[in-house]
Amino acid sequence: MYLYFFIITYNTLMNNVKDKFNKIRILIVGSGIIGKSNAFELSKYGFDIKIIEQDEMQNSSNAALGILMGKIYQKRKGRSWRLRQKSSELWPKWINILQRYNSKLKFEKPLFKLTSDLEKFKKFTTFANNYPDDELEIIESNSYILSHINKTFKGNKLQGIISHQDGRIDPKILLETLNKALKTKNIKTVNAQVIQVEKKFQEWNLKLKSGDILKSDLVILCNSLDSLKLINTEIHNIKLKPVIGQAIEIFHKEENTNFLSLPRILNINGKNLIPINKEKLIIGSTDEYNFKPDEFYINELFEFIQQKPNWLKKENISRRWFGIRSRPEGEPSPLLKTLEEGLILCSGFYKNGILLAPACSAWVSEEIKKHI
Ligand SMILES: Cc1cc2nc3c(=O)[nH]c(=O)nc-3n(C[C@H](O)[C@H](O)[C@H](O)COP(=O)(O)OP(=O)(O)OC[C@H]3O[C@@H](n4cnc5c(N)ncnc54)[C@H](O)[C@@H]3O)c2cc1C
Repeated sequence: MYLYFFIITYNTLMNNVKDKFNKIRILIVGSGIIGKSNAFELSKYGFDIKIIEQDEMQNSSNAALGILMGKIYQKRKGRSWRLRQKSSELWPKWINILQRYNSKLKFEKPLFKLTSDLEKFKKFTTFANNYPDDELEIIESNSYILSHINKTFKGNKLQGIISHQDGRIDPKILLETLNKALKTKNIKTVNAQVIQVEKKFQEWNLKLKSGDILKSDLVILCNSLDSLKLINTEIHNIKLKPVIGQAIEIFHKEENTNFLSLPRILNINGKNLIPINKEKLIIGSTDEYNFKPDEFYINELFEFIQQKPNWLKKENISRRWFGIRSRPEGEPSPLLKTLEEGLILCSGFYKNGILLAPACSAWVSEEIKKHI
């Protein structure tokens, strides 16, 4: 009986909210993970939402590995931690909802974080012991759990933590699933480049490269580095620098090596490894403060351990790719700001855009309510 009243009251409330919001137009610039996640979160309220995207195949969301490091993050205070904590809470809920649109979408767990450095391992141990509720399991080098890993990485004394609440969401499947969800919610993507954002008579005018103008009540800039081109940086004093991330796929033909014997999500001495099948493994990523990928940094993806196994060599690269991330200068990542009434910036996602997407979308949705 109580449940029935609760459902009726909740539905009536949500319908009232939707009636209030459905005439409000929101334009989201950029259809990477951040633009799509904002659209998905805001769709709950019934706004009239459109995304404008110039060419999403080249964006950094498509280059990402999709590893979610929430609980494994050692700095347990400040905004960055709060965003990680919130996203770690929200991701399982989002996955539950999004699986209705694509049953292939999964949050794969756990995450193995290993090191060959004894001092680092001691820090991991202290950290794991300090947070007993976070399901951080310490694994010493002689643990049976490491036997397959040690076979693949012979000669490297690896040990570390298993974080049972962290893991990975395949970014390609995630982006596809969000597209399906947004389509069902009637949120359209306009294929165009925004070249100017201007307020005229209480309305935002977004000028497209074609010369067309789109009008809106609210604008959310989710276009990473290029958001700088659309805001007056003299007034807002925002600086973003490009950080290239390169990743590679390794293919081997050795009989005695089977990448599927490794954990599905592995971080060794700071590099992420994702087995794809018996013979293929992804390794990423580099951090290059530049606009163009540099061959020199690819070496980092081979030199993260002292004793290199035979298969870990450049000749075995079967695929390589990169993405350009944006990192704020002089302030922490990401940038979540109201620039003017009705103009919100959600950009500067450096390393953890996939991880932080739900928490940042929740921030934007609360912020938007202040503008209405
Ligand atoms: C190799 C690599 C590995 C990574 N691994 C991980 C990981 O494991 N876990 C994790 O959480 N994060 C990871 N990241 C980081 C993550 O990819 C980014 O933080 C995230 O993708 C940022 O998303 P975004 O939507 O802000 O930017 P983007 O995905 O770059 O999207 C911005 C969009 O805006 C569009 N745009 C720009 N200007 C305009 C304009 N004027 N008009 C219209 N459209 C415009 C662009 O075309 C683009 O599609 C990785 C990144 C790389 C490169």
